[in-house]
Amino acid sequence: MNDSPKVQRKNSVPENRTEHNHSDSSLAPPIFQTATFTFESTKKLASYHVGESTGFFYTRYGNPTLAAAEARLSRLEGAEASTLYASGMAAISSVFFSLLGTGARLVLLGETYRHTQDFASGLHSRYGVNLNITSENTPEALESLEEGPVRVLFVEIPSNPTLRVPNMAQLTKWAQDRGAKLIVDSTIASPILFRPLEHGADLVIHSATKFLGGHNDLLAGGVSGSKPIIDALTEQRALLGTILSPHTAYLLDRGMKTLGVRVERQSATALRLAEFLCGCKQVKKVHYPGLKSHPDHQTARTQMKAFGGLLSFELEGGPEAADRLVDSLQVPLLAAGFGGTESQVEHHALMAYADLGLEGARARGVPPGLVRYSVGLEDSEILRDDLADGLKCI
Ligand code: PLP
Repeated sequence: MNDSPKVQRKNSVPENRTEHNHSDSSLAPPIFQTATFTFESTKKLASYHVGESTGFFYTRYGNPTLAAAEARLSRLEGAEASTLYASGMAAISSVFFSLLGTGARLVLLGETYRHTQDFASGLHSRYGVNLNITSENTPEALESLEEGPVRVLFVEIPSNPTLRVPNMAQLTKWAQDRGAKLIVDSTIASPILFRPLEHGADLVIHSATKFLGGHNDLLAGGVSGSKPIIDALTEQRALLGTILSPHTAYLLDRGMKTLGVRVERQSATALRLAEFLCGCKQVKKVHYPGLKSHPDHQTARTQMKAFGGLLSFELEGGPEAADRLVDSLQVPLLAAGFGGTESQVEHHALMAYADLGLEGARARGVPPGLVRYSVGLEDSEILRDDLADGLKCI
């Protein structure tokens, strides 16, 4: 049988054909901005299909630029494998779809990103998933739940927006006793500060839009864990079509290269700002796990390397004062999101719960007038002076 790659015909290459010369010497991973991959011959295609040769087939199933970013995320998380999605919500919804079904029980610990709860509620009402959301964001709150098997225990560590840090040993034990998979959304910590898999989690999820990407210029999501679960998610990802684009995967990979230095600096600045705010008379309460006054400070000290670049605080003057402060600050930008190089600030209920109003937000656990502040890479003294000036204006 003729095994030559292609039968050569003179002048048979059309002008619009791209000639490849992928150099192995490129320091940065090339962006494989391609929908599909070519095969030299039907024999090579057949051997790919039976798993005799590795490679790529069609970008909805996988792509080398994604593979490079996934490998980096796995190294950061100490995970066997990772899979990347078009957004954090794509990652969360895919994991829920993959692990849950009618009659299965999902438990969310207290405070989570609003749309995680909204999606979970939809799973309950549309697909008959049993859902429990504890009112307190502590492992002790789990003890008040009805007995019986649980399929998934989902927690955010630290949680958004009051930055609770529940104890992983207690969560792991509770999950194991009920046969549940423990899934941790660790977007706010990043693997630089906290690696949930090392503490017994089955999967760790990120909105890579935040610290991992780090530059406020992309949307992405990641899930890391053991190879069999990640392989199943990757197979499902091909069916759902929720894969990250190669170009964005390149940007994410580039962002992750500087994750360590960014998060270290953001954490140091956030701690300085949190301590400064504690001494301001206009401030009622500061939520930051690095403060001794935070209810989970001791747990955070043992579980995390530092306390992260996100903090939130309540003002004596309530929601009106929060709006005035946000409008007076000169450095942080008023925008949804966090974890990027530019500092961002928001009156959280107004930004994330506008449709529910202040009371609706309070019912979902958001203190009225809570200001959420995401620390960027600006000089810490500039940020502190800006806060001091802003507080004088409220
Ligand atoms: N998880 C957390 C903790 C978040 O804060 C967010 C978004 O803000 C998400 C998940 C969803 O991520 P994305 O916006 O990338 O879909």
